Amino acid sequence: MIWADREAKKLKERNFPLEWADDMKTPSGRIHVGSLRGVIVHDLIHKALKDIGVKTKFSYVFNDMDPMDGMPTYLDKNKWEKYMGVPLYKIPPPEKGFKSFADYFAQEFISVFNSLNCHPQIIWSSELYRTGKMNGIIRLLLNKADVVRAIYKKVVKKEQSPNWFPYNPICEKCGKIGTTSVYKWDGKYVYYRCEYHMVGWANGCGHEGKVEPINENGKLLWKLDWPAHWKVIGITIESSGKDHMSAGGSYDMATHFCREILGTEPPDALGGYEWFTIGGKKMSSSKGIGSSAKEVSQILPPDLLRFLLVRTPIKTHLDFDPVGDTIPNLFDDYDRCLNSYFLKLENNLSKDKAGEVASDYARIIELSEVKPLPKKRLYLPRFRTVANLLKAKNNNLMTFFETQKKNKLISEEKAILEERIKYAKIYLRKYAHEEVSSVATKTFVPSEIQKKFTVQLINQLDTLKNKKDKEQIQQAVFDSIKLSGIKPREAFAVFYQTLTNKPFGPKAADLILELTIKKVIKIINEKNFNRLH
Ligand SMILES: [Zn+2]
Repeated sequence: MIWADREAKKLKERNFPLEWADDMKTPSGRIHVGSLRGVIVHDLIHKALKDIGVKTKFSYVFNDMDPMDGMPTYLDKNKWEKYMGVPLYKIPPPEKGFKSFADYFAQEFISVFNSLNCHPQIIWSSELYRTGKMNGIIRLLLNKADVVRAIYKKVVKKEQSPNWFPYNPICEKCGKIGTTSVYKWDGKYVYYRCEYHMVGWANGCGHEGKVEPINENGKLLWKLDWPAHWKVIGITIESSGKDHMSAGGSYDMATHFCREILGTEPPDALGGYEWFTIGGKKMSSSKGIGSSAKEVSQILPPDLLRFLLVRTPIKTHLDFDPVGDTIPNLFDDYDRCLNSYFLKLENNLSKDKAGEVASDYARIIELSEVKPLPKKRLYLPRFRTVANLLKAKNNNLMTFFETQKKNKLISEEKAILEERIKYAKIYLRKYAHEEVSSVATKTFVPSEIQKKFTVQLINQLDTLKNKKDKEQIQQAVFDSIKLSGIKPREAFAVFYQTLTNKPFGPKAADLILELTIKKVIKIINEKNFNRLH
């Protein structure tokens, strides 16, 4: 059983009339791919609960009332600096056609997670405030400011002064929310100052004023804003990145506020989830590879990106480095799981341990569904082969795979092939590691016996009667090894270095079939291994 089903089964036992899974994000710029982890985690729980008959909802909150507190590197600092400290939903969008700065970046992220078959209800935090839904809780927390301060002291050993209140009004003069501090609450108004130097990233205007802490006049501090959202929306499940889950962290604090002031239980956090990173830290703009959700979603077909996230258990750090063999390996893994799914459809899963593993694979495919899954077994053109054929400038991929299938491809299979061609081109252009390969080629010098082997191989392949028969090709490779008296390991080393620029590759006969015998002979001749000295 995979983790989402296990968690769902556990949650079912608490018998809530409604489970409400939620995730949140401040849309302060292009959203990093790592934030997709939270979306998928909650989508999986939502779907796994639904599958076992639990009534459930799924929402995504954009915290668009938060201030702009950092300058994205891709924006013109001179133009945007004046908005530092202003709530994101009140800043104009970088492009026309959007409601605000927050809306612009949120919409990009929504389009990515929608493409991964995640369709939570979208909730704008500014709407909850504007429509007065937060009013009651704001009032309660201001009235109990002494308890809030005591919790700070108890949980994070932070002493707040008696005239500290957990609320930031929007300054009536300069419009900033990040620079205001409240020093008095009289039961109707909060009294505040817009401070010059309260935060390092924005300067207040010095205005002093009073305002009713209602509607969109201001918002609660983040640590209280979070549990306030839980209560107002009715959230019962909300996981988050492990940074929020430490002792004294946001979740710990929020739990105290829930139990000691709001009179609610915090949502089940599923113990928090691990990071999703791209190429660790070594990959960044310096390599020209971005890691926003949008950019990463363009490297892989949506079902593959979803599969990558679904198959990784919630507590496992997922690092995806698209350079090298990662993407072909991912497609192979996907095909393997899809094969288990076909076996399940055909009622052919074995009853032993292997059957259990295959059943998990099949379930991963079910939960990775983006477009409707096939209803019967399909032939899958292998991505690695597609990429190799394209690399060898073979333009007749359909014929190649129909020969391999020994039948015509049906329309679904053709669609898969088309999609794999599209993404193989992206892969070859960006990540297939050309620079490393050329270095390897330059430094590889074949020995005399290796050269002798390649000559034998050319002769053997050249004289084959059926140049497309895999078994005959395999036999030709073995005969060449035997006839040249070379150790097999040495033979395969020169074989792969010559044909793939790497010390390894697919099965020899498969590689020759992919490249065609003609092409193999040409490459070996070009690389000059056939001249004995
Ligand atoms: Zn101000």
